[in-house]
Amino acid sequence: MSIVSFPAVENLVIVGTGCAGLTAAVYTARANLNPLILEGPQPGGQLTTTSEVENFPGFPEGIDGFQLMENLRKQATNFGARFEQSLVGSVDFSTSPRKLITTERTVLAKSVIIATGASPRMTGIPGEKELYGGNGVTTCATCDGAFYRNMDVAVIGGGDSAAEEALFLTRFASKVYFVHRRDALRASRIMSDRATTHPKIQMVWNSIPVEVQGVKEGSVSGLKVQNVKTGEVSVLPIKGLFVAIGHVPNTAPFASTLDVDANGYFLPVGGSQVKTKIPGVYVAGDCADHVYRQAVTAAGMGCQAAIEAERWLAEHSG
Ligand code: NAP
Repeated sequence: MSIVSFPAVENLVIVGTGCAGLTAAVYTARANLNPLILEGPQPGGQLTTTSEVENFPGFPEGIDGFQLMENLRKQATNFGARFEQSLVGSVDFSTSPRKLITTERTVLAKSVIIATGASPRMTGIPGEKELYGGNGVTTCATCDGAFYRNMDVAVIGGGDSAAEEALFLTRFASKVYFVHRRDALRASRIMSDRATTHPKIQMVWNSIPVEVQGVKEGSVSGLKVQNVKTGEVSVLPIKGLFVAIGHVPNTAPFASTLDVDANGYFLPVGGSQVKTKIPGVYVAGDCADHVYRQAVTAAGMGCQAAIEAERWLAEHSG
């Protein structure tokens, strides 16, 4: 049996292993801060559920999201970053060192970077929860798209994620219904054009999802939708439903301690993107950014938080 020992007080704990957390890990490990990175339920974060990332600088041919995160993790590990699988349930930042109460133990840290990202939002319609995960309702085309070869599927949403999911699904599905509640997509022009002109994608405009059918049978058999302009209700005969309607920030364990906005996103202080009201505690990435939410902006915030933590530790250690 191997016995893992931890310092009584960590220099720096980074919570989260998405783009923001791993970039902070690269910077702080390279600065010899010996960071401990707490890894939650989705190692690698949201990019591990995306397909080709075409807009991360430096990859002219694009890069697979999972591969990009593997590369970042390796880069951090090469500089000595340490990883521990555990979920933070609550924190006590009223004391120094700061306390993070995880599923495994209480971690003490001089400084903390919170980079917990965001999770997919669900519609809450009947049947969605019952058939989620393996029974036809999913939030990840990259993970589950291949299960729907030559079947009809639907995507709910209207942003870049939904457009990306719909386009990815055309590789497998015979038809992709793209259900959007308005008559114009929110997605970027290039993604909208690609999706709306694709021969396998059928746009279902001005329509809200009402019910996922197939609960009794144990797998999705249809999606009931209602046209908000005409009131007409119809059923799309699908076998797979991909929900892509945005995200909810993973800030709950910290929300009573740090400032969050009405939607739960961290509110940084002092004109900074990453500083919080607690000295030595920083936030980075999608948990603190509802505007840009890009891999590269999350990485940028991870870098900012790392440099701030490094400066703070230099001033307050010793
Ligand atoms: P988003 O831009 O917030 O879009 C969410 C979409 O879901 C909206 O079109 C919204 O409709 C719809 N929606 C929300 N709640 C709904 C509900 N209850 N029922 C039905 N529809 C609902 O989210 P996202 O697509 O996940 O994108 C998030 C950010 O990541 C964006 O900044 C996006 O540009 C970025 N992103 C970029 C890429 C890329 O560049 N390759 C890929 C993915 C995401 P309304 O439009 O009517 O509000």
